[in-house]
Amino acid sequence: MRFLKQAMVLLIVMLAFPVMAADEIVVYSARNEQLIKPLFDAYTAETGTEIKFITDKEGPLLEKLKAEGSNTPADMLITVDAGNLWLAAKEGVLAKVDSKVLKANIPAHLRDPDNRWFGLSVRARTIVYSTVRVKPSQLSTYEALGDAKWKGHLCLRTSKKVYNQSMVAMMIARLGEAKTKEIVKSRVANLATDVFPDDTKLKEAIVAGQCDVGIVNTYYYGRLMQKQPQATIALFWPNQKDRGVHVTVSGAGITVHAKHRAAAVKFLEWLSSKKAQSLFADENLEYPVNPKIKPYASVAAWGRFKQDTINVSKAGQLQAQAVMLMDRAGYK
Ligand code: FE
Repeated sequence: MRFLKQAMVLLIVMLAFPVMAADEIVVYSARNEQLIKPLFDAYTAETGTEIKFITDKEGPLLEKLKAEGSNTPADMLITVDAGNLWLAAKEGVLAKVDSKVLKANIPAHLRDPDNRWFGLSVRARTIVYSTVRVKPSQLSTYEALGDAKWKGHLCLRTSKKVYNQSMVAMMIARLGEAKTKEIVKSRVANLATDVFPDDTKLKEAIVAGQCDVGIVNTYYYGRLMQKQPQATIALFWPNQKDRGVHVTVSGAGITVHAKHRAAAVKFLEWLSSKKAQSLFADENLEYPVNPKIKPYASVAAWGRFKQDTINVSKAGQLQAQAVMLMDRAGYK
């Protein structure tokens, strides 16, 4: 009898407070578990919404979403680089989200003009130089790395990486194809050695004296400095008198077949909020996308810079053209 009474009370409570039934969201993420798990935990603690997730490389995740079609359990896709977000939208796996919160928190150039994906952190790709062999006064623009004075002194990462594809795509958008090809060729002519498979090896080569200047994402610089604070390498912000530093985003979109769309949109909006922005950016030494939020102290110490405000979706639109151009320019 007592059990029945308790069961009745429980039933009444459940009927009276249906909103208390915990929501659930499923996320597919190309961003590492160590970077996203703290965010998911914070959101669950704050709202009770459970977040299930899988992580993988961006390519396999996109293929998985496409193969699963309407059966996908995924509500949200988190991935890096505007080129990858653009591709996911083009492949039709991301849905439009019309949100005043997202529009207010995220600058227009850092989200899809059609509202299918939204940048959540800013990644700056800039010049690094040896503090032993180079003076910052010798540096000016990305283009100037093709000047003859850098012959045999430049290190570059492979053109196969989406970071460089996006960067060259943005350059095509800004300077046109002919000029961009000239610049890429002039850089290739300045290479000190073969292209590197990643940004970290490139920086190590500068520290080791194999070359003097290069181009990297700033968070890799941050990681190096955490390990080796005395490393003789520094960041330089190019093109401050014209278009600004090349940036891209890491970001997210809601899937077209989301089973928990409302809950996922709420979570996406939360990710652009003050609290989440620091968690999202700081862990990987990136910049918050929301301009009201200050970067992490050690990141802020690298100085302020003007960023290119061309819409990052151009990186996707012109990616194929960029790949072809780099190939023709002999950039491996
Ligand atoms: Fe990276």
